[in-house]
Amino acid sequence: MLAMNYRGPYRVRADHKPDPVIEHPGDAIVRVTRACICGSDLHLYHGLVPDTRVGTTFGHEFVGIVEEVGSEVTKLKVGDHVLVPFNVFCGSCFFCQRELYGNCHNTNPQASAVGGIYGYSHTAGGYDGGQAEFVRVPMADVGPTVIPADLHEDDAVLLTDALPTGYQAAEMGDIAEGDTVVVFGAGPVGIFAAKSAWLMGAGRVIVVDHVEYRLDFVRRYAQCEVINFREVDDMALHIKKMTDWLGADVCIDAVGCEAAGNAMQTLTGPYTMLQAGSATVLHWCINSVRKGGNVSIVGVYGPTFNAVPIGNALNKGLTLRMNQASVKRHLPRLIEHIQAGRIDPKQIITHRVPLEEVADAYHIFSSKLDNCIKTVLIPPSARQTRAVAATALN
Ligand SMILES: [Zn+2]
Ligand SMILES: [Zn+2]
Repeated sequence: MLAMNYRGPYRVRADHKPDPVIEHPGDAIVRVTRACICGSDLHLYHGLVPDTRVGTTFGHEFVGIVEEVGSEVTKLKVGDHVLVPFNVFCGSCFFCQRELYGNCHNTNPQASAVGGIYGYSHTAGGYDGGQAEFVRVPMADVGPTVIPADLHEDDAVLLTDALPTGYQAAEMGDIAEGDTVVVFGAGPVGIFAAKSAWLMGAGRVIVVDHVEYRLDFVRRYAQCEVINFREVDDMALHIKKMTDWLGADVCIDAVGCEAAGNAMQTLTGPYTMLQAGSATVLHWCINSVRKGGNVSIVGVYGPTFNAVPIGNALNKGLTLRMNQASVKRHLPRLIEHIQAGRIDPKQIITHRVPLEEVADAYHIFSSKLDNCIKTVLIPPSARQTRAVAATALN
């Protein structure tokens, strides 16, 4: 099959690899019809995630058709059209029972924190991802969800990570009616966090970034205020000026470890790796939120030390919440929001690229060229099938 193949930092290409096979009776093989590139894939692409092995295939946001099922699979059948949450999870451990699917205890023996994630290095379990023609889906009765007939495939693929992660970011902010919510990051997750904040009753939503075309998009899409941080001297002071000197009620970090905006953080983080990433947005969140406010973190960070102003968080009496999203938990409500027209996820897709051109796709997304917000890769096998089936979805 054709698959994205990681060759080292900033080097990926489309290669022929062996087709995946059923390794356990609970597995399924899914023929991928769409796979997104995620902002967090860029942390892998930039070589910042430990134990990212050459030869592996990324991709934790994919949908497709069930091609084959193992003997123990009872809920999926060949031909089902499924969306597959980015979490690989068992559904039955202590954590899964509490709907903490991102923290499954059984799918990632390499770590005691995060559970398994498709295509996200051996730090997240070593599962090959879906930027390929086929992918092995373990515990196939647990994760995949059959896509409702009236749900567009482009919306479905955004339900595998970006939308539920943005939604959970807003949920963890515990937004009260009328709250002022500041979202740092105007990538897909930040865009969806801003949109979700309104659905949860926010009275004011402000999005901060420095990429002008993304700010333009989110201003229109989420009808929010925007700030270009390059035009602001002191972020916390600026937010306080906008909020009667109190600070925001809720701040959301949808950026993570590669934040720009502070030279010292960038130098000690991504450049020299003296800390596990640039903590600029954590500073902005903790210092811009009001006393007693909530900070919600979904941007990805490395496991160890970051220079975070935890004393400020203590003295301000903040509530800090963070996690990888538990995608499956949010699906019923989010599918309802999409079907009711309250949110139209597919509008964020700017690029549709044949899988063969995966190297260009990563470059364009990483360098923020061509007004890129979200890229969908289409494998060659999916394109052939689409032509033959004339697809009910379009
Ligand atoms: Zn993702
Ligand atoms: Zn589990």
